[in-house]
Amino acid sequence: MNDMGYKSPGELYYGSDVGTVISAIDDLIIEKMKEKSIDFTQEYFPILLRKETLSKTGYLKRGNKDCIYVYNPDIKNPNIEYVLTPSACFHIYEKYEHFNFDKEKVFTLKQHVFRDEINDEWRDEIRLRDYQIREIVFFGSKSYVEIIRTKLIDVAESVMEELNIPYSIKLSTDSFVHPIMKRYQQVQIEKKSKYELIIKYFGKEVAVASFNLHDRAFTGPFDINVNQIKTYSGCVGFGLERIALCYLKERV
Ligand SMILES: [Zn+2]
Repeated sequence: MNDMGYKSPGELYYGSDVGTVISAIDDLIIEKMKEKSIDFTQEYFPILLRKETLSKTGYLKRGNKDCIYVYNPDIKNPNIEYVLTPSACFHIYEKYEHFNFDKEKVFTLKQHVFRDEINDEWRDEIRLRDYQIREIVFFGSKSYVEIIRTKLIDVAESVMEELNIPYSIKLSTDSFVHPIMKRYQQVQIEKKSKYELIIKYFGKEVAVASFNLHDRAFTGPFDINVNQIKTYSGCVGFGLERIALCYLKERV
């Protein structure tokens, strides 16, 4: 494992051995999605996200202060227009704004995401500033998004079994900083809107994937619809470095 190290807290670098494991885990997720007959389309996006899109997602309103903004220091009063995307699914909502799909849809993408935790004490070996997510985003009726999420939990379970990593699936909430959002955490529990895939890393529980139902939080503001159906969305993200680190740790 000397193929890997940290340049600064949260900034992981690695060589081809770890890189190969990350790619293999990503391939395995895709393979298991095919096995579970999930009909998906692959998409590719840049890492820069327009600030305007970020605002529209409600990410900042939910009290998140961990974004890394991009600006040119040579320009006085820089007009910050871009952010390094903090979530993998935001480009999908931007791309399909005002779109009407003719049938229910599942998309997948691999995306680098960026989080600059405000509280440095949170930072540990596995909480990275820059990491890759295999993301799956789905649109359809309420029952459709629930079915796809359940299938993706099955995918996660069979990936863990194949990698021989002990795991559990737990009901969870987003960790909001803002006190007003504490009420929202209760709603998330009542609606079972977030599950996490938990594995142990040096005795500590870490979430390596999350399975989310968004209700109409994105399909509403971005006006994304499936023909004739009241449209809901959900997303699932697998943290590829985290899974790889846990996998490798089991083998040292
Ligand atoms: Zn997402």
